[in-house]
Amino acid sequence: MNTIASEPPEALGGTPTSARTTVTPANVALTFVMLLTLPLFVYYLWYCLEFNRGQLMLPSVAMLERFPLPTAGSVAIVAGWLAFQGLLQIVAPGKWIEGTPLPDGPPLKYKMNGWFAWWFTWAALAAGAALRFYSPVTLADQFGALLTTANIFTYLFCIYLYWHGKRFGTQHERITNNTVYDFWLGTALNPRLGGFDLKLFCEARPGLIAWVVLDLAFAAKQYQLHGFVSVPMLLVCTFHFWYVADYYLHEEAILTTWDIKYENFGWMLCWGDLVWVPFTYTIQAYYLVEHTHDLPWWGTVGIIALNVVGYIIFRGANIQKHRFRKNPERPVWGQRAEYIETSRGSLLLTSGWWGLSRHMNYFGDLLMGLAWCLLCGFESHLPYFYIVYFTILLVHRERRDHDMCAVRYGTDWALYCAKVRHRIVPGVY
Ligand code: NDP
Repeated sequence: MNTIASEPPEALGGTPTSARTTVTPANVALTFVMLLTLPLFVYYLWYCLEFNRGQLMLPSVAMLERFPLPTAGSVAIVAGWLAFQGLLQIVAPGKWIEGTPLPDGPPLKYKMNGWFAWWFTWAALAAGAALRFYSPVTLADQFGALLTTANIFTYLFCIYLYWHGKRFGTQHERITNNTVYDFWLGTALNPRLGGFDLKLFCEARPGLIAWVVLDLAFAAKQYQLHGFVSVPMLLVCTFHFWYVADYYLHEEAILTTWDIKYENFGWMLCWGDLVWVPFTYTIQAYYLVEHTHDLPWWGTVGIIALNVVGYIIFRGANIQKHRFRKNPERPVWGQRAEYIETSRGSLLLTSGWWGLSRHMNYFGDLLMGLAWCLLCGFESHLPYFYIVYFTILLVHRERRDHDMCAVRYGTDWALYCAKVRHRIVPGVY
């Protein structure tokens, strides 16, 4: 899955081609600062949620006194979780699918067994809780320690990835030979251990499933503290569960995403997958543990409707493009598909969702994100961090994609933009 960490500043080489070689002292300094401050920012969110009832607060040195150190439990949980998900990736049944063509060889094959792994994980967790092997609130109680453990593991793993790419990577033109920069962006496109694809695994498994598992741990915590699970908590868990389950249902689509096709696997993606996603996408559920408000019926209906509409647009647009690229003859909304044929041979769809804006999929995703935040009410700004961050991420991502497509498709892209005028929100932006 894509994360904030997949969104470096333009100059940091987010584009897959020539910009990657542009290294300036300012870029390196900025990269270094981000390597240090992004983790600190996640701790800041944790402090606000854990010690300040989810209200923003001024950072202070006193926070250091409460810095969450790893515990034996947190180390066991992180290690066990990674091993469990890794094992499932290897042994769970699934189709082998070819990825997109590579510049330096034939396409790689990927085992698509996420749907099985997702449900198997839930069955195992439910059985473990029913048999009292663990308490569902443990993850909520250990959140700070888990965050530190995940950070330490990810930094160490990224050092390994850096070495592995330098040693075994094949696309050396993508490496800048600036240590900080290469550590951030990665030194290999598809680092693998045998058939085990490290990038796909980290993108799609431990962090993504942990996001929803942590959500449910917060729901359990709310139940433990208050004796009930509120409607907003129920809804946020349901929406997130649905979002991730839907991802596994359409798992193959990840093979054509930007991250898999173009981004090297370095700290930026890896930390985003293993720390940012599970420890910041859970902020609404964390916030709701202490905030047990109810919603008026119209608020509940409105938020559900917003999430459903967002989902229909998001999934509809993504699947429409996927199917169109597989078979351009397939009707779009019951009509013959309209498209622009580029001189490179690729087709750009201009009807259906793709006729309304150039990224309706982002628009739908944003609507869902807004629905999740609204569940938290208006007492604090903090739960809205997600929609603010996500808007910045997707606006920036659209700009990068636009620049890349402009280079890739030249005048055909200009023609496409003239036909589909809006970037994300039809009629507005
Ligand atoms: P897209 O799936 O929109 O892919 C963009 C690419 O699609 C372009 O580079 C181009 O590639 C191709 N394309 C563009 N326009 C057309 C067209 N009209 N017809 C056919 N092909 C076209 O972008 P992402 O990979 O960024 O996003 C995928 C999904 O992931 C989105 O729904 C997004 O919301 C979601 N996402 C979620 C995040 C999260 O953290 N929850 C973070 C980021 C994204 P080419 O022509 O080379 O094939």
